[in-house]
Amino acid sequence: MSKKLYYDSVYLTEWQTLISETLEREDGFYVILEETAFYPHGGGQPCDEGHINGIPVIDVISVEDKVLHKLARLPEETKVTCKVDWNRRFDHMQQHSGQHLLSAVCRDLYQALTVSFHLGTDYSTIDVEQPELTPSQLASLENEVNRQIYQNRSIVSYFVTQEEVAHLKLVKQPKVTENIRIVEIQGVEYNACGGTHVSSTGEIGMIKLLKAEKQKGNTRIYFKCGYRAWEEFNESLRILGVLSSKFNTGKDEIIDRIEKWENEQKQLQAELMDLKEKNDRYVAKELLSSQEGNLVAHVFEEKSLKDLQSLAVKLASESDLPVLLATFAENKVVFAHNGSSTLSCGAFFKAHLGKCNGKGGGSDKIAQAGFPTSEDALAFYEFTRRQVNENSD
Ligand SMILES: [Zn+2]
Repeated sequence: MSKKLYYDSVYLTEWQTLISETLEREDGFYVILEETAFYPHGGGQPCDEGHINGIPVIDVISVEDKVLHKLARLPEETKVTCKVDWNRRFDHMQQHSGQHLLSAVCRDLYQALTVSFHLGTDYSTIDVEQPELTPSQLASLENEVNRQIYQNRSIVSYFVTQEEVAHLKLVKQPKVTENIRIVEIQGVEYNACGGTHVSSTGEIGMIKLLKAEKQKGNTRIYFKCGYRAWEEFNESLRILGVLSSKFNTGKDEIIDRIEKWENEQKQLQAELMDLKEKNDRYVAKELLSSQEGNLVAHVFEEKSLKDLQSLAVKLASESDLPVLLATFAENKVVFAHNGSSTLSCGAFFKAHLGKCNGKGGGSDKIAQAGFPTSEDALAFYEFTRRQVNENSD
């Protein structure tokens, strides 16, 4: 059995000890230490990282009462110096302790028990037995957890016997029957837990609830504590700063400016549609009066596929001739008629597109295709034009 130093003090990060056992397992090398402060995965909390004699600790797992440390290679010496990555450990302590407090307050305010906890690399979540939490309930929850943080209540842990457990008001009965470890947030709760926690709620710093969503009849609450909440605040401020400078206004005015901008966009879109419609009418008139041969055909430099399609439909509605349009802007070709031709536009495209590396298709009356280059688009346009003219002769 390894002595678990993290149960004596979670603030111990450097120590010397002896390797009691080395293991070569399928997935790599492991060492067992006489004393370890490396916390293994457990109770929703990820493992610690750090170094043993300068060799990175890749993973820490618990097998029965032993703690196994996975290393990139085995150290040559038996006496080793160990170092826990404190930033990672403290982050886990902040999130985990914040979770205890959040779960306790959620239970007190809404009688909602926590059924699961996940500590992720970005955010943490708890699932609580409550079908829904309203925004105002979430706001009250966040407010109360932060108030408890600022009360700076002591968080202590100790081992108890099964008889002693019976006298404590535990949230949930422990799964183990011996070495039962109680984590007590003084004045708030007793919880059986084997994780690492800060020594007073003040060290959690703050909690920020990010959002809540329904999850199989429960509610999943996303949150960040301590440094993570602070970083979230910095990132949000950075985004606000960029928006402020883009809209050239203070942060209080941004929403107003975006709403105004949306309205302007709607108005501009409506004006643009109107102008396009007028322009199409004019272009259609020009093309119909200047067409030669047995089809209306034209290549545009700048039109989008959508505009090309609407113009093709308009032309086909005003003429019995087939309509063939291309655009260099998107390397697209559109072919249409009003039903006066027996040629199926879609079938024609399907049969010949491959010659010019085109992809597309359509119905009997309209088809469209895209090409990798403007040369390919133009080649297909010319090919179609010749085909239609020859077939009509
Ligand atoms: Zn815990």
